[in-house]
Amino acid sequence: MNLFDVYSLFDVTPVRAKGCTVWDDRGQEYLDLYGGHAVISVGHSHPHYVEALKAQLDKIGFYSNSVRNPLQEELARRIGEVSGYEDYALFLDNSGAESNENAAKLASFHTGKDRIVAFRRSFHGRTSGAVALTDNPAIVSPFNAHHRVSFVDLNDTDAVEEELRRGDVAAVIVEGIQGCGGIHVPGPAFLQALSRLCGQYGAALILDEVQSGYGRTGKFFAHQWAGIRPDIITMGKGIANGFPCGGILISPKFQARKGMLGTTFGGNYLACAGALAVLDILEREDLLANALAVGDYIQARLPSSPRIKEVRGKGLMLGIEMNEPVAPLRQALLYDKHVFTGVAGQNMIRLLAPLCLTKAEADRFLEAFKEVLG
Ligand code: PLP
Repeated sequence: MNLFDVYSLFDVTPVRAKGCTVWDDRGQEYLDLYGGHAVISVGHSHPHYVEALKAQLDKIGFYSNSVRNPLQEELARRIGEVSGYEDYALFLDNSGAESNENAAKLASFHTGKDRIVAFRRSFHGRTSGAVALTDNPAIVSPFNAHHRVSFVDLNDTDAVEEELRRGDVAAVIVEGIQGCGGIHVPGPAFLQALSRLCGQYGAALILDEVQSGYGRTGKFFAHQWAGIRPDIITMGKGIANGFPCGGILISPKFQARKGMLGTTFGGNYLACAGALAVLDILEREDLLANALAVGDYIQARLPSSPRIKEVRGKGLMLGIEMNEPVAPLRQALLYDKHVFTGVAGQNMIRLLAPLCLTKAEADRFLEAFKEVLG
């Protein structure tokens, strides 16, 4: 049997990794500024993380959500503490898309309404509901398109209010910083207006922090730069440093009822052990502060070149928008300089490094980038 051929692959086979370094099957070393798509938060194979997973597997790896799981309770307490959302409740699932689906479902249960307002260039995942919230016609099937979703421009408060005024909107969903759509940052005033308008018209505000959250921008969640408190916050990617895990934080205004949400694997012992180890490391190594400092360091030192159109983002969620397609530059970075980077669209190099990236490692990237720019 062959693999269903849906991924464009680089000709690299990673077999080992540590911190921000990855080695391939030929022993070649790479600097990882992509983190497996913002997933590696505390660095590859961190000893504390590895030990936590091994120790948990030795005790119990899996049981179902029909029994009490103290690790879930501890994780809820710890995420509440570190994020400042102690009064919210946690529901654990398996991925970013599932988190957004659960958020949309919860908002719809709560309001009794079925339309969702999302933003142009958004990305919320690949499951049916999540893809329907995503502004990318290339990945939406006729089945997905049956969901009632309206897209408006990011930072256009009037357009959002026009949608809300119709009275049938369950939720507005916005990314803390748009990732796959090209590192577009919602302005703080816009997020504050969204929060106010959702309250005024009785819609839930869902903040998708799957990519921008978990410390990546220097605060636990990117929306915290705007000082707002959304109704539901969705998480994934960095939450357990590569062990599949997702979750949503739910405002106390939502009433749980038995059977309202559910999952087989969500919140399993190994995911929780990984997620708890991630929080330990984020705190012990002060990685939020590091993400902000090293992100600023990179932004300040990127070369000025007529080929660069704009640099956007915050902390270690950075987009370098070029005036040209970036494929040749990324290939040169990977194959000649041995640096992994990400992409958004045709013209943007997207950096989503592990939050433990050092300034010395950032210098290696900056040097390599200057050389491939020529
Ligand atoms: N939301 C955002 C903002 C994302 O960037 C992604 C993935 O890239 C998702 C949701 C979907 O996450 P997952 O691939 O874990 O389902």
